[in-house]
Amino acid sequence: MRLANRIFVGLILGVLFGLMLYSVRETTWVKNLMTYFISPVGDAFIRAIRMIVVPLVLASITVGTASLGDIKKIGRIGGKIISFYLVTTTIAIIIGLILAVVIAPGATADVAKTGTFTPREAPPIMTTILNIIPINPIDSLARGDMLQIIVFAVLLGITISAVGETAKPLLNVLEGLNNAMLKLTMMVMELAPYGVFALMARTVINQGAQILISLALFIVVVYLALIIHAVFVYGGIVKFFGGVSVIDFYRRISPAMLVAFTTASSAATLPVTMKCSEENLGIKKEIGAFTLPLGATINMDGTAIYQGVSVVFLAQLLGVDLTMSQMLTVIVAATLASIGTAGVPGAGMIMLAMVLESVGLPVSAIGIIMGVDRIVDMARTCMNVSGDLVCTLAVGRTENGVNYPATIEAVSSGKSV
Ligand code: ASP
Repeated sequence: MRLANRIFVGLILGVLFGLMLYSVRETTWVKNLMTYFISPVGDAFIRAIRMIVVPLVLASITVGTASLGDIKKIGRIGGKIISFYLVTTTIAIIIGLILAVVIAPGATADVAKTGTFTPREAPPIMTTILNIIPINPIDSLARGDMLQIIVFAVLLGITISAVGETAKPLLNVLEGLNNAMLKLTMMVMELAPYGVFALMARTVINQGAQILISLALFIVVVYLALIIHAVFVYGGIVKFFGGVSVIDFYRRISPAMLVAFTTASSAATLPVTMKCSEENLGIKKEIGAFTLPLGATINMDGTAIYQGVSVVFLAQLLGVDLTMSQMLTVIVAATLASIGTAGVPGAGMIMLAMVLESVGLPVSAIGIIMGVDRIVDMARTCMNVSGDLVCTLAVGRTENGVNYPATIEAVSSGKSV
């Protein structure tokens, strides 16, 4: 069975198991089962994921930034596409945050009642800003201070590409570390069905069916935010910068959207994305060849939306009120986290750990939404890939690099992708 299906089976079985035991949760044997089996299995899985985060963030962001060194050569296009990517991602998170605050999917159930979490007090804004600069990067790594690690990683990446040849060995080491961590992610994800089973069972035994309603609402909010972003933000860009009909545009890129939805991987979809760009949108090959792989690596609006909604949702469940300055921190952290997210299934959830830590929420809270991750991963990946094509079309237009085919017969006749 495919991993995604196995995770789903783990989720359903965990929910059923939890519902079965909910009424007898006070009995000794259920308490023992929780202490010696269900909780340890769930926690082991979360620990394994946390193990990957620090080295992965350091390696992926450093390598990503270092490879942007080439952008100087491509100059203008690079500047434009990165601006588009950054602006759309920031808008995406804000949409996610607003919807999550307004709809409040986590307000009905209150995990804080179980007494497991005491919110940390938020430090003053200037301290937060100053704290971004690490005094000792090794210490930041050891403590897992994500914002400091990112700042250091970005600076390291910039300097590696500025130094050039003599810094190459370091880049190779970090590239190796990055690949190894991605492999390790895959390996840990093999255990996800068991982890998800245990985490779901524990959540439902503790919280009852109420939590399921919150989870369903969480999924609805993520999907709603994604749709709003696709219709208004992308729709606006396609219309005003791309100069084409929005519906027609989405029809032309639908092959890439479908592949992204089913594989939940921007990286795996890349060949189809590039084909859509060239054949269905008529964007010059040299533009797409540069902007699309870059987008598949750093431009993840869907992931950013999901991370914003998740932080607010989990804070609501934990009974924590996020302050305005914490919201700003989430915007910065989620922008960076989405840039650092690899285009593979589940990667956005792992990077969510970093966003939670940036505002002092417990990483273990990810366990609550882990079971339903695939359902939101498919949609956010679809949006990640669409965003790459939207921005590429816009930049392509400003460069006179689009020869939009008059008809899309190629698409509907199946001649194209
Ligand atoms: N699966 C997403 C992608 O490949 C990343 C994520 O997990 O958010 O685009």
